[in-house]
Amino acid sequence: MEKKQLDWENLGFGYISTDKRYVSNFKNGAWDAGTLTSDANIVLNECACVFQYAQTCFEGLKAYTTMDGHIVIFRPDLNGKRMEESARALEMPIFPVERFVDAVVKTVEANAAYVPPYGSGATLYIRPYMMGTNPVIGVKPANEYQFRIFTTPVGPYFKGGVRPLTLRITNFDRAAPHGTGHVKAGLNYAMSLHASVTAHAEGYDENMFLDPATRTKVEETGGANFVFVTKDNKVVTPKSESILPSITRRSLLYVAKEYLGMEVEEREVLVDELKDFAECGLCGTAAVISPVGKIVNHGEEICFPSGMNEMGTVTKKLYETLTGIQMGRITAPEGWIKVIR
Ligand SMILES: *Cc1c(COP(=O)(O)O)cnc(C)c1O
Repeated sequence: MEKKQLDWENLGFGYISTDKRYVSNFKNGAWDAGTLTSDANIVLNECACVFQYAQTCFEGLKAYTTMDGHIVIFRPDLNGKRMEESARALEMPIFPVERFVDAVVKTVEANAAYVPPYGSGATLYIRPYMMGTNPVIGVKPANEYQFRIFTTPVGPYFKGGVRPLTLRITNFDRAAPHGTGHVKAGLNYAMSLHASVTAHAEGYDENMFLDPATRTKVEETGGANFVFVTKDNKVVTPKSESILPSITRRSLLYVAKEYLGMEVEEREVLVDELKDFAECGLCGTAAVISPVGKIVNHGEEICFPSGMNEMGTVTKKLYETLTGIQMGRITAPEGWIKVIR
């Protein structure tokens, strides 16, 4: 297989069309066999449920080239299970996890020439998603759906070195109690855009959303979960029904406990205790962990001792262990790595 001639080190995080995408349609109560296609465009009726009532959910994962030259994906079964949960929450049909993993494998195989080489820092981002496709004007779920997967090569996240982020605590809310915060759905992102644009305009990298009911507890940002490190070296992550269950966060907690021998806690995290943490990071598939240097709470600055120039010691260890597992430098726990070729 001849790799595409792309400037891997200088890729950003933008859409680049690749050769093949996977499509399966749901009609008359069943999914068809699914196929790979070259057509990147979708033609739908103007009244399709996804356009009118946002009936759509998505996933995100990556393919990596390992140190010994294999193409692998990381825990795709967890993405498949989470998409099953999202579909249930939005009254969409289940695309079964076994078929999900098989479709991801086929799509990555078909675009293997776009999987960036080991050491470039770049990866192949994989985007599975599903939407209601038939015309719906009275509010109800669609009865026809399309499941698709496309891939796009993305550049190294920490291009030009690590730069700890500055967050603001926002007055906007992300997800109501008993709402859709735990569902990986575009609807949660549509309403985060205003919060995100205004945060950027004020010079912040991201918003820290609080629990809307009491505004005393930390939830997450628009697209990443928090991990904190206490001064006595415990890894703490917020627990809430309205946080999206990040696969990276679950994997980091396992790594902290089983690989680094640290104590881990999933519990409510109060805004009042932010100033007591030694380190803070944002975790998700895109960056694995981005260090947070500072959080601004309505004018009051909370500066973490790890500072604004580098990753904290523990954050760095977590980052290096998990990326080491993904890149095949460190032995992975059973079932975490799916080898594609
Ligand atoms: C996808 C997502 C994350 C990160 O999840 P990963 O599985 O680690 O990529 C965190 N928060 C939100 C709101 C998300 O949509």
